[in-house]
Amino acid sequence: MSRSKELFAEARRYIPGGVNSPVRAFRGVGGEPFFVERAKGCKVWDVDGRELIDYVGTWGPAILGHAPQVVLDAIAGAAKNGVSFGIPNPSEVEMARTICEWVPSIEKVRMVNSGTEATMSCIRLARGFTGRGKIVKFNGCYHGHVDSLLVKAGSGALTHGHPDSAGVPAELAALTLTLEYNDADALRAVFAQQGRDIAAVIVEAVPANAGLFFPKPGFYELLWKLCAEYGTLVIFDEVMTGFRLARGGYQSLIGLKPDLTALGKVIGGGLPVGAFGGRREVMDQLSPDGPVYQAGTLSGNPLALAAGLAQLRELDRLNGWARLEELGAAFEATVRAGLKRAGRDYNFRRIGSMFCTYFMSGEIWNLTDAQHSDKAAFGRFFHACLERGVYFAPSQFEAGFISLAHSVEDIEKTGEIAVAALAAH
Ligand SMILES: *Cc1c(COP(=O)(O)O)cnc(C)c1O
Repeated sequence: MSRSKELFAEARRYIPGGVNSPVRAFRGVGGEPFFVERAKGCKVWDVDGRELIDYVGTWGPAILGHAPQVVLDAIAGAAKNGVSFGIPNPSEVEMARTICEWVPSIEKVRMVNSGTEATMSCIRLARGFTGRGKIVKFNGCYHGHVDSLLVKAGSGALTHGHPDSAGVPAELAALTLTLEYNDADALRAVFAQQGRDIAAVIVEAVPANAGLFFPKPGFYELLWKLCAEYGTLVIFDEVMTGFRLARGGYQSLIGLKPDLTALGKVIGGGLPVGAFGGRREVMDQLSPDGPVYQAGTLSGNPLALAAGLAQLRELDRLNGWARLEELGAAFEATVRAGLKRAGRDYNFRRIGSMFCTYFMSGEIWNLTDAQHSDKAAFGRFFHACLERGVYFAPSQFEAGFISLAHSVEDIEKTGEIAVAALAAH
């Protein structure tokens, strides 16, 4: 029996489902997860000694690749001075200033420990600021496991076929209005009927938890216009896209300023970090200045901020976003050529270093479209790649990530393996 198999059997005795986050259990693709021993650059090694080229990158944070030296040094350096203070420390000021300088809409920011905490805090703040209760979200957008937002939420929830979680009171879910992404008419209608009761619209900057789909031209402009008209806040969830697609996030690419932005993943350099920020007037409603309570024992943790700052500085120093676009383009060319060779008309999409291959042809603008993909075929492809040394995310509905540690040779090798996997599945 492999070491991974043994560990998973034991894990299931002590951990629900054997995992600490559901998608890791491979339910979306069948089979059992492998256990990792070590990760470096674009590779991970499992406990049975297998080497894999990794396109998950710890679900987004590893934008420089795994265990980059600058981040390791920063953590070791910070640890010499202590691992947690719970007292204001200088790196908090530096992180906050960096975020405010880089992200156009953010005037003040608060650090938290995960993307979930960031979106949860945005929702409470928007409700506190507006004095309203209702929230609009889009089907297939995942914003972490916040009660109000676990309604038609994407990725893990989708793969498991439970779009709504047990344990979320119907009374609370009733305050979350869900719309199909890119449906301008539905958006207009919901504002016409209930606009004055809507505290905020929350949206993933680029929806990437139900595969990867993009806003139609004019959709965000309409969203911003309606929110301004009705005094509703726009919460832009850039937990995945922030610092990955551009220095200033996706918002800097489209030239729109949300009221609030949620950040996570890349910002922590692989340590548990999130942040939320936005308009000064809204952020000043937070405790201790304002009436909206929000707190965290480990928020602004010195190790986490040292790792995050080191990663952000390195990205900036290398102009990593331009290089990631080049690598992304090389990856796209390889995949498109591979799909052609394999005779498949699957829908490949990419923005910068994020990508998804939907196992279907045709247009995809929302969750309903995305659900036509052939999930069983994806599962077979996933395992055929894994056997050959490439690790893609174990779900059709997850985006893949390229890092600065992927070389063109790694990408070409991936292309060969993917073609072989397509032929085999
Ligand atoms: C991952 C993710 C979250 C949740 O972040 P966690 O750190 O897992 O809590 C929220 N929103 C988006 C868009 C994400 O991709």
